[in-house]
Parts: sequence; structure tokens; C-alpha cells
Amino acid sequence: MIYADNAATTRLDIDALHAMLPWLQEEFGNPSQPYSFAQAPRKVISDSRELIASCIGANADEIYFTSGGTESDNWAILGTLDNAKAHIITSKIEHHAILNTCKYLEDCGANITYLDVDSTGIVLPKMLLNQISHKTNLVSIMFANNEIGTIEPISELASIAHENHSIFHTDAVQAVGHVPINVNSLNVDLLSASAHKFNGPKGIGFLYIRRGIKIKPIVHGGKQERRMRAGTENVAAIVGMATALKKNCDNLFAISQNLRTIKDIFLNTLERNKVDFICNGDPLGIPGNTSISVRGISGETLLHRLDLKKIAISTGSACDSGSTQISHVIKAIGVPNEYAEGTVRISFGSNNTIDDAIKIAEAIVDVLRKRN
Ligand code: PLP
Repeated sequence: MIYADNAATTRLDIDALHAMLPWLQEEFGNPSQPYSFAQAPRKVISDSRELIASCIGANADEIYFTSGGTESDNWAILGTLDNAKAHIITSKIEHHAILNTCKYLEDCGANITYLDVDSTGIVLPKMLLNQISHKTNLVSIMFANNEIGTIEPISELASIAHENHSIFHTDAVQAVGHVPINVNSLNVDLLSASAHKFNGPKGIGFLYIRRGIKIKPIVHGGKQERRMRAGTENVAAIVGMATALKKNCDNLFAISQNLRTIKDIFLNTLERNKVDFICNGDPLGIPGNTSISVRGISGETLLHRLDLKKIAISTGSACDSGSTQISHVIKAIGVPNEYAEGTVRISFGSNNTIDDAIKIAEAIVDVLRKRN
């Protein structure tokens, strides 16, 4: 089987797995307990927090563990809201973890502005300038898009938000562990991440909260995470996330060079075989992410035909798979209708080789030929 849906989830890194095992077996203590058996899990959480902070240029006390990207996004939006009539600015191409949270708030009376993007999926800073005012509480723009991989001009957008006394959040779920990130040079106040997108375990992530930012908890209960996020810590998952992130960050350059080569070979193979397609997004986006819109076939058909050949790709974001509709991202970037329906996302990861790229491209060519 060839797995090329790494934007949906990734395989757990073997070192991360080994680092996790002791915390599921021998050292299973609850970190909140006062006895000495709880000391080791407490310490490993603290060490992991420091390791994660060092990977994104943050202080350890600015990292809060959550159950993943969706919770981090919900927390950033719901936690910073200081009145029911808040004004939030986001973009039309955000993940549903952001869009549906905004929709929920809209139903409660909040005012939400959804910014357009250009044809490569970029939120132009002038678009934000046109909509922002001193009444805007929060601006939330994703770091990198999960369907087309486009990377947004985050530091410029964050500066505009700050000039207007607004908090700036970025959903960096597709970026953390894939591109260099420094929260200080980016100038962001809040940043969401999810471990299973960078070869860590599922069900764990974090929200970076800059010191001094006012944010309320949304998960109430015990005193964990300095009273900001209740619930017994998932110690093993936290350790796995820290191990995977550190490993990815140490090898970022080599991994991304390799992924860019694999992507180029994939696209060249399609071109050589005269496939009529558009490559979506900004070429300088997330290295392994490849969104193509092929003329004359539906994305769903392509996905299922490739599935029969034991190749796993996706039609868009994970949550849009199985839906025959054109995704909100593909609509927002204005892909012509005759191509839009044939959109698939091939997201290469560290598990993939040049050989995989050629095989996937040839499989697409074969499906198209047999259809004619
Ligand atoms: N944000 C983006 C950009 C994503 O790609 C995803 C996952 O697909 C999420 C948020 C949700 O993350 P999680 O699966 O950890 O809840």
C-alpha cells in the first residue's frame, strides 16, 4: 500500500512510540498526586513542555496541552471572546474547526468577517486592513491551508491585528513540524498545533498562549495546566508529541528538500503523460502537500480507483472526504468548474519515496486512460 494522505494524519514515529511506552506501563501514575510515584510523570510533562517550547521559540509556561487541533482552535476563539457582540475576522479557507466555531458564535450574536483569498489561497494584508477596526477582538488566520498547502503572510497579518489592538491567532496545525516556526518573529499571540500531523500520536496537541494574553478556560474541572485546561494529562501522548516534534524540527531542512523533490517528480510525471490538470495553491507552500484539479473526472472517482490500486489519497480535507461537493477552499480560490470537481490532495510525508510519487502519477494516468 502507498499512503499519501499525510495532511490527514501521519504514521507515529518509532522513537516517539518507544518514548511513550514506559508512561503507559511502569510509570502510569497520575501527575497530580502528591506521592513520589507521581514525580516522574510530573517531571516528564515539564520536560516535554520545555522541549516543545524550544521548537517554536516560546517559553515553557506559554504551552498548554490540549486534545488536538480542534480543541486548540475552539479554545483560541471561544476563550478570547469578551462579549457576545464580539467582532472576529477569519478567512474563507479555514479548517472547519475554525469555521464552525465562528458559525456557532455567529448564531449567538457575534459579528464574523470572512476574508477572501487570492487565486493561490493567500489572504492579502490589504484585505485585512479594509475590514479591521478598533472593535475587532480577534483575527484568526491559518498558517498553512490543509487542502492546498498555501502558507499565509502571518507576521504581516499579526502586525495589522496588533496595530488595531486585536489578538492574533493562527491555526498552525499543518505547519508545526513541517516549516520553521518562531512565535516571536511571527508576532502571534495564540498558535494551535496537533501532534498527529507531525508523526506524533493522535488526540494530543497544544495551544501556545503568549504571556499576558487574556484567555479564559473552556474545559472546566480540575487544576491541571495551571487551572487553564482541566483533565488528567495524557502523559504518554505528551511525551510522544514532544519526541516527534523535536525529531522533525531537527531534520526540517532535509525532510522538506526531499518532499519538494518527490512533489516535483509527481507533477512532472503527470505533465509528461499529458494529463490536463491545474496544480492548486502557492508553490512555496507546505513541501509535501499537492492539490491537483484534473479535468474530466471527479475527485471521488479518482480516490476510489486509486484505492483499488492500494493507494491512499484524499479529495480535500479529511472532514470533506466522502462528500461529492466542491470544497470551500477550491471554491474560494476560483478553480474553474470543469477542473474543480476533479480535485484530489496527495500529501507526501517522510514515509514516501520518489518511486511512490511515480507510481501514484502513473496510477492516475492509467485511471484516466481507462476512462476514455
Ligand atoms: N486545523 C487544521 C488546519 C487541520 O488540518 C486539522 C486537521 O485536519 C485541524 C485543525 C484539526 O486537528 P485535529 O485533528 O487534531 O483535531
